[in-house]
This record gives sequence, structure tokens and C-alpha cells, in this order.
Amino acid sequence: MSQLLDQEIKYLKGVGPKRAEMLGKELNIHTVGDLVYFFPYKYIDRSKIYTIREIDSTQAYLQLKGKISHFRIEGQRPRQRLVAVFTDGTGNIELVWFQGLQWVTRNFQPGIEYIAFGRPSIYNNRISMAHPELEVPVKEEAPFAVALQPQYSTTEKLKSNFISSRTLFRMIGQVMMQLGKVEDTLPDYLLKRLRLMELGEALRNMHFPESNEKLRHATYRLKFEELFYIQLNILAQKNKRQSFYRGFIFSRVGDNLNVFYRNRLAFELTEAQKRVIREIRKDMGSGKQMNRLLQGDVGSGKTLVALMAMLIALDNGYQACLMAPTELLANQHFRTISGFVDDMGISVLLLTGSTRKSERELLHEQLRSGELHILIGTHALLEDEVQFNNLGLVIIDEQHRFGVEQRARLWKKTNQPPHVLVMTATPIPRTLAMTLYGDLDVSVIDELPPGRIPVKTIHYYESKRLVLFGFLRNQIAAGRQVYVVYPLIRESEKLDYLALEEGYEAIVRAFPPPEYSVVCVHGQMKPEDKDAGMHLFINGKAHILVATTVIEVGVDIPNASVMVIENAERFGLSQLHQLRGRVGRGADQSYCILMTSYKLTREGRKRIDTMVQTNDGFEIAEIDLKLRGPGDIEGTQQSGIPFDLKIANLGQDGQILQFARDTASQLLESDPQLEKPENALCRKQMTKLSNTVFDWGVIS
Ligand code: ADP
Ligand code: MG
Repeated sequence: MSQLLDQEIKYLKGVGPKRAEMLGKELNIHTVGDLVYFFPYKYIDRSKIYTIREIDSTQAYLQLKGKISHFRIEGQRPRQRLVAVFTDGTGNIELVWFQGLQWVTRNFQPGIEYIAFGRPSIYNNRISMAHPELEVPVKEEAPFAVALQPQYSTTEKLKSNFISSRTLFRMIGQVMMQLGKVEDTLPDYLLKRLRLMELGEALRNMHFPESNEKLRHATYRLKFEELFYIQLNILAQKNKRQSFYRGFIFSRVGDNLNVFYRNRLAFELTEAQKRVIREIRKDMGSGKQMNRLLQGDVGSGKTLVALMAMLIALDNGYQACLMAPTELLANQHFRTISGFVDDMGISVLLLTGSTRKSERELLHEQLRSGELHILIGTHALLEDEVQFNNLGLVIIDEQHRFGVEQRARLWKKTNQPPHVLVMTATPIPRTLAMTLYGDLDVSVIDELPPGRIPVKTIHYYESKRLVLFGFLRNQIAAGRQVYVVYPLIRESEKLDYLALEEGYEAIVRAFPPPEYSVVCVHGQMKPEDKDAGMHLFINGKAHILVATTVIEVGVDIPNASVMVIENAERFGLSQLHQLRGRVGRGADQSYCILMTSYKLTREGRKRIDTMVQTNDGFEIAEIDLKLRGPGDIEGTQQSGIPFDLKIANLGQDGQILQFARDTASQLLESDPQLEKPENALCRKQMTKLSNTVFDWGVIS
């Protein structure tokens, strides 16, 4: 049977080379197997035929059986519509077409019995159905006589070449009749233990559901299988990595950490920070190489955790480094960390693109000799000249800004890989993290330091601009500073810069010098000018910073208390949340003001409403995942994971994913190499997969 599934689609009866090419191009269907795994996107219950008298409200889709008594045209060109009065003996309804009038009158005639399928609406006591599907009732033979009729998505191009949902249905039906017994892809004992439907039966029920119940089982089984093999792969690779590389053992808690903790920390750590530090210490003392993702909302205190992890490395005689995605952030980390460990006899240096050559040479030397303990910097850390004496811990901030390969370069700087901690303030929903970073252990700081006042988020339409300006004047009078951010989308870059410029000018008009100082910063400026503008704002000399999203990541200016986001509907949720995180860092009430036009798409409105309703980054990430689908979530593009999952949906199938992961984990525990005969099938399936998709090697 598998021979049939491997066969090219063009050899299937009634397909031929031309249609085969089109199926390949439009739907990525190349083999018979691809066709069988091309699942319907929905099912329509065709088991019941309603009578017109039964229609009582605007309902879901339904079908009627009756005849057209006559056609008439209403209205004037070009707004004409075609109305057919349709009757089944219990009443009349009007079938209405706004397009393709000629096609309808040519193909359907009064007096012939049709099935009309569509959604009725009631207006002025008259029932109508717009653009119904009409067809002559046929007695379907098995296997096509199904109550739940599958609907396959097709494209305009396919439809105009006579490949409709129904054509696909017939093609699949033909395959199903020839298919015979399908070899399963999950071992028998697993099927039994987990009460999963066999593969052959599941495939048949996806296309020809015997009942709702069976369809549910079939869907579950196929989703499970898809997620199970992804997890089995990820976990097997993780096992391999952990047994292959030993980790440095940081067993000692020494002076650095103790002195810091007792004497330097002006505040209590939050419970979440304590827990995460425990998790990191445990990893670093285990003899296995740590590969941990630290997630925490903006302002949750990740930098401090990073510093304490570095101090543990130092206490055990190793060097540590911290890499940030921008020079600004690297600078900020350098200042913070140098400030914290001042006078502790710890040597900290900064390396970025603008470090002078003479300084650089000295730094390289001290790094090689081990005199330098902590190195902080940007991509510059990746350069070949940067050689450590004994690098024990690598910390990467805002990891999604770096590609997998870049990260791997840091890791290759030593014979034995250092422990790796990657940090992100872009919360990744659990389900996605399990797939995307399934090879990493995850720590979460889910608590903000005490005393933070949550940012108030307000949505204003354009008409409230004067109110906005009045509010900003009050805030500035109270000594606060304001961010105004404009979207910058690559496709509409020119227009976006124009909007930024106009916005800037309008703000300068409303906030004129010498009373006010407004600076503008964007990506097309010379770096010196950009830095100069930023510094005016950082030093409190400018009241308003107008910018594109360059300020998105990490910038920490506690005195800035208002974030105005222009055209907020054009930003993604996670980006909005990141931007909002730039304020609310000081002791005062902060505000995030979302400016939009009146025209909002449904999705745009949902994003704005979500922002107004919640400050919880994880909740926002979950909603974002549901709205956008995993392929668009930041960081997934470079991950190398294919997100064209055939049937599972990471936004919805979190529970199945968790179950699949647990099952995979248990399986590997009892049979790490998949050597037992009963797991032969898993092994075979894995090799098939890893050759094609999941070979992304050691992560980080
Ligand atoms: P993140 O990097 O997670 O956005 P930071 O590490 O920059 O957050 O911390 C934000 C601010 O909160 C910093 O000024 C930091 O010193 C402070 N902070 C961190 N932990 C605590 C704590 N437990 N209690 C009070 N303030 C804290
Ligand atoms: Mg930070």
C-alpha cells in the first residue's frame, strides 16, 4: 500500500500531468500520500434536509429541497440582483445572487428539483438565502454517501481549472478504495495503551467520517502523532547533547556571590528570582551542560539574575560573558553591572563595534590571560580575535535577535561548551516554547519587583489629539518624559518615514522651543546623530523622544512615564507590549496611549482591546499566537522548525502537545536509543523525519 502513497499524483486516474502540476504548485500536493494527508478544513452536515417552514431564525448553513418557481431581476445596473423564488411545498424563500447572474440563469431552470445549500437570513418577514449552492439531488454511492461532507480549501486558480473541493473529494475517494491496509506509524502497544485510532481508520475517517465521534478520534490521533514525533525528535537530540558534552561543574558558592548578596543588594529578590537562581545553580552544578531559556516580562529583573549566575561562574574560577543585540543595550548592561560589582575586585569590560583599537588589544590580552572576569558586548564578541582563557558561562540577552548560527559561534570558542543562559522579554507561549525551544529548559520570572505601579493603557482615536497634547503638557510640567513611536514597516518604508517626519513637525509645533525640547531618532540617521539624540533624552534634557521602534528593546529610562504609540493598529501584539514595557520603570504612574484611526480590522481591534485589558505578557503572547498563528511569532522564522504542521495547531492543541511530550519523554526514559523491538516503528519514523526537517543540531 505504501507504494501507492509514494506514487506521483499525475499517475492517478483522471489527474494527468497538467492537473498534477497545478496541484503541486497550488497545494503542495505531489504524491498520492500528500493528497491523503491533505485534510478538509471543515465538514458540513448534509444528513438533514430542512423544510422552509422549519426555518425560524438566521441559522447556520442548512439545505433545502425544492423547485424554483421563477426568476426575476431587481434593481438597475450595475447594482442588479437576481432573485429566484424557491418553494418546497411548506413555504417560499428567495434565493439571491449579486454576481454571475447570467451563469445562474443559464445553468438552472424553474421546475427542476434542486438541493439549495446556504445560510438563510430573515428580513421583513421574508426569508432569503444569498449565493446558495444549487445542485440536482444525486443518490451517492459508497463511499461518497457521507453525512458529514468534507470541504477542502482550493484556490481561485484551481477552481477556474475545475479542481473544486468536490473534485478533490472524488480523487481522495478513489485512492481510499484502492488503498487497502495502511501500515501504522505508531507502535501497536502505544495505540492500545493510549486508545488511539489506527492510522488507516483515522485517514479514512478524516475524509469520509462515519460519525462525529469517529471524526474526533481520527483528528486526535493524527494531531497526537504529528506532535509526538516532533517532541520525540527534540528530546532525543537533547539527550544526545547531554550525554555527549559534559558540563563544567560549578559546585562552589564563594565570596563573590556571598558578598554581593549580603552587601550589595539594596532590595530583596522576588520569590520568582530566587526560584530561577536555584534552577540555574542546580543546572550548573549537575555536571551536565546548561542550556536554559530565561523568560520574564520587561522589568522583572532578569539582568540581576544574569549577574548572579555570572558571579557563580567567577566563584568557580571561570570567566563569563554577556551578549546584547544592540550597542545601546550592551552599554546599559555594562553600566548596571559595573555599578553593582564596583570595588569587589571584579574586572568588567565592554566590547562593541566602537571600542577603540588600542583598548581592544588590551582587552583581548586580559581576556586570554584570565585577568578579565566579565566581558559584556555586542556581536563584536563573536569575532575570532576574541579568545577566552576559560569561558564558563555565556548569557545572551534578547536571544531572538540572534540567529542560531551566531549563537553557536560563541559556544565554539572553547573546547568544552560553556553553560548557556538565553534571556528574553518576549514571552513565548508554553506550547510554542515546547516546540521551538524544546531542547532548552525553561525558567520563568512571573513576578515583578514590589512597588511597581501597573501601566495604564488608553485607546484614543485621532480626534482626541488635542486631549492627548494637553495630557502630555501636564506630564512634562510634572517633570516626566514622553516617548512617541511611529511604525516602520519595510514594505512601506518611504511613507512611514514621511509620517514620522510629519508627526515630529506637528509635535514641535505643539511643543515649541525654548519651553520644550523634542528630539527625533530613527534608523536612517547617522549613528552619531542617533546617539546624540538618545543621550539628550537619557540625560533628561529632551522632554519628548519621537522615534521608530529603535527604542523597542531594553532601554531603561525610569523618568519616562508616557508611551504614545501612533498607528497602533499596525503593530503586532508582542511589539505593542514590548513598547509599553519601556515605561512604568519608575515610582510614578505611567501611561501607554494607543492612537488609532477609526478604521480598525477585527484583528486590529482585538489587539488594541487586549492591550487595554491586560498587562500580562504571557496572556498577551497566548492571544497573539491565536491571532497570528505560530509562523509569525517573533523568533520562529530562524528556528528551522517547519510550521506548516499538517493538522495540529500550536495555538489550540496545547493539551495534546503536552501529552505528546510526556509520552515521548517516558518512551525515551525506558528506551533511550529506541533499540527495543517494539519501538522499531518509532525509530524508523524518526529517521525519516530527521533527514528532512529537524536536523538543527545543537541549539544556542
Ligand atoms: P529586565 O531585564 O527583566 O527587563 P531589569 O533587570 O532591567 O529587568 O530590572 C528592572 C529594574 O528593577 C532594575 O532597575 C533593577 O535594578 C530592578 N530590580 C530588579 N530586581 C529587583 C527586586 N527584586 N526588587 C526591586 N527592584 C529590582
Ligand atoms: Mg533587560
